Amino acid sequence: MKRTFIFSCIKILVGVALLMTYCEVLVYYVTQMNCAWPTLNPLNEDKTIAKPIEEPLRIMVITDTHLLGSIDGYWVDKVRREWQMYMAFQTAIKLHKPEVVFVLGDLLDEGQYCSEEEFDYNTKRFYDLFKLPEDIDMYIIVGNHDIGFHYRVTTHLNERFNKAFNATAVQLINIRGNNFVLVNSIALEGDDCFLCKPAEAELVRVEKELKCLQNITCQKSNYSRPILMQHYPLYRKSDEECTDFDAAPYPEIMEPFKEKRECLSKEATTQLMEQINPRLALSGHTHHGCTRKLPHPVKDGVEITIPSFNLRNKNNPNYLLGVFAANNYELTKCEMPKESTIIAIYIFGIVLWVVFINWLKNRRKISYNKLLNKKLPFWYIKRGIQQRKQYLKTFSPHFLEKF
Ligand SMILES: [Zn+2]
Repeated sequence: MKRTFIFSCIKILVGVALLMTYCEVLVYYVTQMNCAWPTLNPLNEDKTIAKPIEEPLRIMVITDTHLLGSIDGYWVDKVRREWQMYMAFQTAIKLHKPEVVFVLGDLLDEGQYCSEEEFDYNTKRFYDLFKLPEDIDMYIIVGNHDIGFHYRVTTHLNERFNKAFNATAVQLINIRGNNFVLVNSIALEGDDCFLCKPAEAELVRVEKELKCLQNITCQKSNYSRPILMQHYPLYRKSDEECTDFDAAPYPEIMEPFKEKRECLSKEATTQLMEQINPRLALSGHTHHGCTRKLPHPVKDGVEITIPSFNLRNKNNPNYLLGVFAANNYELTKCEMPKESTIIAIYIFGIVLWVVFINWLKNRRKISYNKLLNKKLPFWYIKRGIQQRKQYLKTFSPHFLEKF
């Protein structure tokens, strides 16, 4: 009885270990292996930009990781989501080996509420989960969950985040001829507050720098149209026009956006387009995917909104891989394992394992019964043994009598 119980426990443990190994580790490799770096299409080259001599740059972009805090987060949920993001991110780094990683804000879920101790803990947690080899750089943009919406940002919250994650209101980063402009969307309220005024001044400086690179105002000539990155999407009425595979589900997709809350204001959008004239804009915040044309006055180019990296916010999250040259770029969205798929595999795996164990148990019973019922070849062996016994019973006495 005791032995049977131990064997049953071992069978259950083996089943759980196999299932967890697949659903918590292998599934990330199996899913993300399907994604590869895109190749630059010569037909998309910008003929106004000189052909670069540098190798194209490979970047990875994620957003809205929302590490749970102590107010809204339940610890089981926190542990599970962080494990999922850790596996998806580290698998992506091992498989794709990007040169630079950008994070488009909302790293934390309760950055605007949490105490100093909790903020420090979450900062360390973020760098543990999204750890990178030394040769890969990470650039971080602030989101509303990191310091709060515009009305509740304080100097302390802003400085705390900037110091911990090495962020600033506006940054121009040039990597191998590609200009990335990183902007704090919350600082584009246009009200001359402590956050907005310096950001506006920085934007003017970046605009001048870009014109200088374009050889309009000075003698430098390292210009390529910038890639704009920020947390909020540019102004749009809603996600209704988004037809991407990872767009918001119905009816959420129809909900109108509030300016300065779900997207940038019309004024800030026009201002950014005029000052930066990007070839591409990348954003997060809505937790859903969207691809649309860049608004007026930019004549060409697209804006891509990347969904949340956290499976708590999105059933089918993904991350973006981009190959950038000064005169060209190509992008691809890499899918991560879906929450619904992982749950389905767990249910299917449990059912399969229970059926397998029962089959093993019944197989033994069937074999034994068949043997008894003389339905298997074993019966011939059994009959042979019985006949031999009968022979010995019948003939041994006479055989012994001879001696
Ligand atoms: Zn946000």
